[in-house]
Amino acid sequence: MDDNTQHRTRLPMRARLATTVGGAAATVSRLAGKGDGSVIGGIIGLRLAPDLLSQLATGRQVVLVTGTNGKTTTTKLITAALAPLGSKIASNIYGANMEAGLTSALSRAPDAPVAVLETDEKYIPAMVKATRPKVVVLLNLSRDQMDRAAEIWLLARRWRDALAAAPDCRVVANADDPLVAWAASAAGKVTWVAAGQRWREDSWCCPNCGAHLQREGDDWSCRECGGRRPPVSWMLYGDEVIDPSGRATQLGLALPGRANRSNAVIALAVAEAFGVHLSHALAELRKVTSVAGRYTQVNRRGCDIRLLLAKNPAGWLEALDVMVPPPVPVLLAVNAQGPDGKDTSWLWDVDFRRLRGRPILVGGERRLDLAVRLEADEVAFRLVNDIDEAVDAALAVGAAAAGPGGTAPSLEVLANYTAFQQYRVALGRVQ
Ligand SMILES: [Zn+2]
Repeated sequence: MDDNTQHRTRLPMRARLATTVGGAAATVSRLAGKGDGSVIGGIIGLRLAPDLLSQLATGRQVVLVTGTNGKTTTTKLITAALAPLGSKIASNIYGANMEAGLTSALSRAPDAPVAVLETDEKYIPAMVKATRPKVVVLLNLSRDQMDRAAEIWLLARRWRDALAAAPDCRVVANADDPLVAWAASAAGKVTWVAAGQRWREDSWCCPNCGAHLQREGDDWSCRECGGRRPPVSWMLYGDEVIDPSGRATQLGLALPGRANRSNAVIALAVAEAFGVHLSHALAELRKVTSVAGRYTQVNRRGCDIRLLLAKNPAGWLEALDVMVPPPVPVLLAVNAQGPDGKDTSWLWDVDFRRLRGRPILVGGERRLDLAVRLEADEVAFRLVNDIDEAVDAALAVGAAAAGPGGTAPSLEVLANYTAFQQYRVALGRVQ
């Protein structure tokens, strides 16, 4: 009997029916052109069997990945790093990261003994309970949209309580984020990683006692209660990873930027918890070139376009760090539909001054909000109505820069969620 049959026969009749009906609904949803159908399938499955997720998780080694930024990328990197296990791995690769999305990811891969699941921050307590994970990854915690600012301290408290109640679970946590460190320190087993904290506005106060935190470089401590950054066993140093034995190894990733290197170090720490050797895991990480269309290159009319998605101030700061240097033009695009948050005042938390002196194009439904913000930072820009207008501008810059040793015309695109999706569709649903 293979793994697949074993797992299916273990499920009670009602759960089996729920996964079948849920799967059929997902297929219908896909055919109707509404995404990959994972959410609708999961919702129908959960209606038929409310404890379906917990039944589907039984007998599997589950990794839950959460944090405000980097969840999707880290989930993909961990999945890659665990490839040397040779096992089938279930994962919600399309970013459906609440209960229905997780349920759907597991029901689509009934024979996968390992699951790596991106999980919404708010759902961590319930999902820890339902899936009894082997590993929980805590990346960072900052406000996602203005209207959610008050929630993060409460969230950290809920993570802390959930992890304290799951003593067998290993937590891989970012020691550089005080809120994350505080939540993880209640867990039974913790692997501390120095994964960096680009965005610090939400963590000037000690999560334990509320006093002002002392910071020196990446180090932080509290004079009032003695809380401090835990000693780390994994760290990123330039382009090298320092492993728990103290050995440095070149990362050499295809994905750009410091945030992705940090996420890769986290993935290596998770791979270690599964007994995968660093060199084997790293070889797989180097093969990852794009994540759900982020960092994707596409060519349009002879112009190389690189697409970057960033949803909040912390993400925009990270993305501005990985921009290729001038004179390559940058297209910035902002929408304010539901998934983006209706309020664009977060733009004022991003320092755009580093964009001065290079060609900047501004698009998206809220391009005027962005224009006002750039005016204030004295960044010159031009408004564009769509991606093709931006490509025209990039081709013009490319033609001016052409000559011996010149490179092909190119364009950097940085957009928030729905603006990114619109460009992706306009460019032919690039992966
Ligand atoms: Zn304190």
